[in-house]
Amino acid sequence: MSQKPDYPAVPIFGLPFSKMNMAETVEYLARAVEARRPTQVITGNPIMVMAALERPDYYRVMEQAELIVPDGAGIVWASRFAGNPVPERVAGFDLLHELMREGERRRWSAYLLGARQEVVEEVARRLQERYPLVRIAGWRNGYFGPEDDAGVVAAIREAAPDLLFVARDALTTQEPWIARYKHELGVPVMMGVGGSFDVIAGRTKRAPVFFQKLGLEWLYRLLRQPSRAGRMAALPRFVLKVLRAGRKLGERPASVRETEMKKI
Ligand code: UDP
Repeated sequence: MSQKPDYPAVPIFGLPFSKMNMAETVEYLARAVEARRPTQVITGNPIMVMAALERPDYYRVMEQAELIVPDGAGIVWASRFAGNPVPERVAGFDLLHELMREGERRRWSAYLLGARQEVVEEVARRLQERYPLVRIAGWRNGYFGPEDDAGVVAAIREAAPDLLFVARDALTTQEPWIARYKHELGVPVMMGVGGSFDVIAGRTKRAPVFFQKLGLEWLYRLLRQPSRAGRMAALPRFVLKVLRAGRKLGERPASVRETEMKKI
């Protein structure tokens, strides 16, 4: 979305984070489904914002998404710092379930793309059991390269789902992949959900509510999976950048230069 977003938002480094709560977000996406309007939902967190500030191509992906929701406690904090707080955190995992619930009422269908084959099969089985009125239109594991993209896109088009959940790598094969194909997929709501499939399949655990309430879900994940440390180094850098930006937090930083943006 390079023009003004069509939802209430707080800009963080020029990226419009939605100020809708969970119910309003579901309502907004239900309208997109009814209108068959291609809508890429980004569940934004500090790691993604830092990647965007360092890579103009990633900035562009985020900027052109139809909706960015505030996943990640760091974003909620930054919005408060900006004096324009989002009403609540809208976590991708929760939004997936809320969309499935809404899908039961509206008889939607969903396609699952990502994670390992046995994981995505288990997710299809569990979601079908939990939301029997949503048709699981298809699934595929997330381990494929660009040479397979055309076939994957064609299979999704053919299945014609209302919702597409993509569980791959947010910085490379997930958000940029959706951005690249969103006008070919023929799906109204497309959303990257990261590690959510692993949680739904019971392979990993979501942080206890206690951690979620304190805004420490990231800490729980770091403790359980220390290999995430590299990625999470973005968090303190994000905090510093926000503090330094001060009143200019809303502005698109000079580092994302127009000239570079045009090349992509
Ligand atoms: N994944 C995938 N293809 C890839 C790389 C990763 O399908 O090429 C899957 C991986 O199996 C896991 C998910 O993407 O299910 C990423 O989970 P992670 O916890 O790393 O993501 P986060 O929630 O931090 O975005």
